[in-house]
Amino acid sequence: MSDTKSGFSIERRGLELRFRTVTLTAREWLAPDFVRVRLSGSDLAGFDSLGSDDHMRLFFPAGPVDTVEELRASPSREYTPLAWGEDWLDVEFAVHGDEGVAAPWAATAPLGSSIGVGGPRGSAVISGQPGSWFLAGDETAIPAIRRFAALLPADVPARIVIETVSASREIEIEAPVDVEWVHRGDAPSGSALTTLIDGLTDAVGADPFVFIAAEQSIVKPGRALLERWGVDTAHAVVKGYWKRGEAEYHAPH
Ligand SMILES: Cc1cc2nc3c(=O)[nH]c(=O)nc-3n(C[C@H](O)[C@H](O)[C@H](O)COP(=O)(O)OP(=O)(O)OC[C@H]3O[C@@H](n4cnc5c(N)ncnc54)[C@H](O)[C@@H]3O)c2cc1C
Repeated sequence: MSDTKSGFSIERRGLELRFRTVTLTAREWLAPDFVRVRLSGSDLAGFDSLGSDDHMRLFFPAGPVDTVEELRASPSREYTPLAWGEDWLDVEFAVHGDEGVAAPWAATAPLGSSIGVGGPRGSAVISGQPGSWFLAGDETAIPAIRRFAALLPADVPARIVIETVSASREIEIEAPVDVEWVHRGDAPSGSALTTLIDGLTDAVGADPFVFIAAEQSIVKPGRALLERWGVDTAHAVVKGYWKRGEAEYHAPH
């Protein structure tokens, strides 16, 4: 599908890279394995995120730091800005057990703890109107899916599919269409979503925008779907947001 026939394009925009220090001021559990936190501080003045699947880097220092260099030397992980204002920023974390840095921090850090925020520094922004939408992911993609869902016009064909462990882990997502949930149970992350994607033959509608993000194994079936549907990769985001058995996975950009 060429851009000349399409009603939309994905444009790259840059933002000046800034590092900020923020404080944990609130925590709300939306499911036993999914938590929303509020990060606050005057450093957030001017924070912006233009693209729904933007990522920023959160830095988790072991103690107080005095310089940006010290902050940048601490362990960091990638997260999606969900919502923000002049002095606050909400982030949602899939809590995947005791391993790692970011998820345990989000689950257990005392209110008042400080971390760093770097970026976002680059965005992919949808310009124009896709003819239809397909949004799919695991828990880590929920914040990006929420942001895309907020852009969905009510009268355009759309499907939103999210994989979670079980029905008891589903959470509310505001969208003009019903979210379809698939459950992996004890099977590996991504397996239920892969089964669904592998079974999709007909596209949701004409001129689709496709966003698929989950454990890295989703990339292959996701790309195969684009081929079956004849979707140009320039009209899609198919990304591994984390990789089984690998800490601090860096998704290729
Ligand atoms: C562009 C982008 C945006 C992202 N946005 C979000 C977001 O908004 N919310 C969010 O929750 N995540 C998001 N992620 C995923 C997040 O960066 C990873 O899950 C990250 O590895 C978590 O860091 P950690 O310190 O908790 O675990 P790590 O130290 O990185 O990993 C420790 C162990 O846990 C495993 N692991 C990591 N993540 C998961 C998981 N979700 N489920 C099961 N096992 C896991 C690893 O394979 C490893 O074995 C995003 C990733 C990308 C690339």
